[in-house]
Amino acid sequence: MCLCALLWVAGLVGGASAAPEVARSFQDQRTPAPGKPLAIGDYSAGCVQGARPLPLSGQGYFVMHPSRLRYFGHPMLVDFLQTLGRAVKTRHLGVLLIGDMSQPRGGRAPGGHASHQTGLDVDVWYWQPKLGSAGTLSAGDRESLKARSVLDTKTEAMQAALATRVEHLLQLTASDPHVERVFVHPFIKRELCAKQSSDHAWLGKLRPWYGHDDHFHVRLACPADSPQCTPQAPVPAGDGCGAELDFWFSPAAQKDREQGQKDYESKVTHARAMPEACLQLLQ
Ligand SMILES: [Zn+2]
Repeated sequence: MCLCALLWVAGLVGGASAAPEVARSFQDQRTPAPGKPLAIGDYSAGCVQGARPLPLSGQGYFVMHPSRLRYFGHPMLVDFLQTLGRAVKTRHLGVLLIGDMSQPRGGRAPGGHASHQTGLDVDVWYWQPKLGSAGTLSAGDRESLKARSVLDTKTEAMQAALATRVEHLLQLTASDPHVERVFVHPFIKRELCAKQSSDHAWLGKLRPWYGHDDHFHVRLACPADSPQCTPQAPVPAGDGCGAELDFWFSPAAQKDREQGQKDYESKVTHARAMPEACLQLLQ
């Protein structure tokens, strides 16, 4: 073990001031940590042992921006995405474009994420570009294309051409028993709630959250055999289309929303201390 790793293990557990260095060292990891697959810690301060890479393309999906090396996850996440890709293909819903999963050993990734640290989170784009004649997307496109908002800026509704695809993608995703939450833009949830389909229990897993108009963020529940994975509070019962959704639109809640946005931004910009079991993955 190198001296730097010893210092981390000895001095950084619980030391918030050192957390950014730990975050940087997770960013430097190029391979998964060996061993039994384990999600460790919480979604915003954790890591993953025994992660698997999602193959860069497969039935019904492509990994985007692969040079970022964020296509790793707990095997449960990899299996979930491959299953979802096959379902999307079978239903002729186009392809899934997979954004960030986790780094090879999880931990904090630079730029915009507080979570995605335990190998259980993934961003999936709503939009998809025109594919080549063989249903392909070039390596250059996969590296350079960016996610696009699905909302019409004037009407605040989903763009008509994409609304059906988005609804089907979200229903398929939220209906998977491994999925605990799916973060979406509040306008998207409102629109789906307004449709009042006869089977709308799946809507409860859609959680309105800031941003998320160009991708949805899927979070799997802690795997049963990862005892150090910190679960989140269960999603409240019901479809979440009532008062809970009103919060995002009520003028009275404006201040609370602004505070929520500030709290979230501070989570994104401040690395938190990691569990000791995560520091061991850096040795
Ligand atoms: Zn995300």
